[in-house]
Amino acid sequence: MEKPFAITLDIGSSLANRTGSWRTERPVYVDRMPPCNNACPAGENIQKWLYAAESGDVADNPDDAKGGNGYEAAWRQIMQDNPLPAVMGRVCYHPCESSCNRAEVDEAVGINGVERFLGDLAIERGWRVEPPTAESGRLSGKKVLVVGAGPSGLSAAYHLRRLGHEVEIREAGPMAGGMMRFGIPKYRLPRDILEGEVARILDLGTGSGAIAQPTLKDQIIGTWTYVSVDLVRPDGAREPLFGPNPQGQASFDGNGRYILMTARAGQAKFTSTNRMEGTPEENKAVVQGSIAHFGSYTIDEATKTIAFHIETSTFPNWNGTDQKRPFTITGDQLTWKTPASTGGGTAEVILKRAK
Ligand SMILES: Cc1cc2nc3c(=O)[nH]c(=O)nc-3n(C[C@H](O)[C@H](O)[C@H](O)COP(=O)(O)OP(=O)(O)OC[C@H]3O[C@@H](n4cnc5c(N)ncnc54)[C@H](O)[C@@H]3O)c2cc1C
Ligand code: SF4
Repeated sequence: MEKPFAITLDIGSSLANRTGSWRTERPVYVDRMPPCNNACPAGENIQKWLYAAESGDVADNPDDAKGGNGYEAAWRQIMQDNPLPAVMGRVCYHPCESSCNRAEVDEAVGINGVERFLGDLAIERGWRVEPPTAESGRLSGKKVLVVGAGPSGLSAAYHLRRLGHEVEIREAGPMAGGMMRFGIPKYRLPRDILEGEVARILDLGTGSGAIAQPTLKDQIIGTWTYVSVDLVRPDGAREPLFGPNPQGQASFDGNGRYILMTARAGQAKFTSTNRMEGTPEENKAVVQGSIAHFGSYTIDEATKTIAFHIETSTFPNWNGTDQKRPFTITGDQLTWKTPASTGGGTAEVILKRAK
């Protein structure tokens, strides 16, 4: 060694003395994004809410809660970034855990499981997020229309409401949730959990803003084709009124006009090939095997009832009458019921949305 022992002022000498490099290198503190936070698609401040969650349930220890700690504080911290923790705690592929540094020591922190626990606790205890009010002076006076109530639209609406904007969200489907509802299976995402978090976001619409769910009128607009028209007897027995696989369609426009036509499949043709010269049997088969009417319609959202005002029908006795049908729309299926005209029971009509 050229330098005297213990003089360690340049790189290498400390290594030669086997004292390490402490004399020639100084630590630099770099404030970087934690890897979990960086990997989280929702951008959650995971370290912060995990820290708060460490205090546990402080419901009986208000002093701990004052410091911004405890389960509720942890949940509120998540809600700064992500309004769907119970959903994400189930369906997220947790890239946060894949990038967790702790895995190099033993195993990754179970972030996803804690997030799910906090999300479930919030639903159970009814924790809510209050949007700005007129009194708070934080309303922007601006209005935003969000199209689509999947997780993206719901999250956008949620953050916009918290920023003080008036938000209206329009959904083409029958219910809010998008692929969370119609794609992800129930065993992975139970629907009561989904409902809990979606309802909390939609409830932010009360007060100065509005997060509108699609009305039944919105949902019924379009064209539907027939699946079945059954007479359901009081004992549950079914009888197809227009035979198996009835043909036909119903169309509802946005201006309150409709047209509806149903016919038995495979109806025998007139032997004469002239519709003005049908035999009595052929004419009877046509009348009994088909029905059509058109006119205007209204929807009663409260009672979930459609009222057809029939202007003209192939059954002229219906002309000028109003007929009410309680109905439901589930996904792409429209179902309405009416008391059977003869023999007791109910006529049940099922249609599906035309693609
Ligand atoms: C079978 C399946 C399983 C999945 N499993 C997982 C999983 O385990 N984990 C995971 O992280 N992701 C999963 N995903 C992906 C996840 O569901 C999607 O990434 C997510 O739903 C996309 O959200 P989004 O809001 O962008 O779109 P969507 O969820 O598709 O929502 C869009 C919404 O907009 C509405 N809309 C469209 N056009 C209009 C219009 N013109 N007017 C009004 N409304 C309109 C639609 O009806 C819909 O409700 C899965 C997806 C599927 C299909
Ligand atoms: S599990 Fe939660 S914290 Fe982890 S990446 Fe997904 S949303 Fe973010």
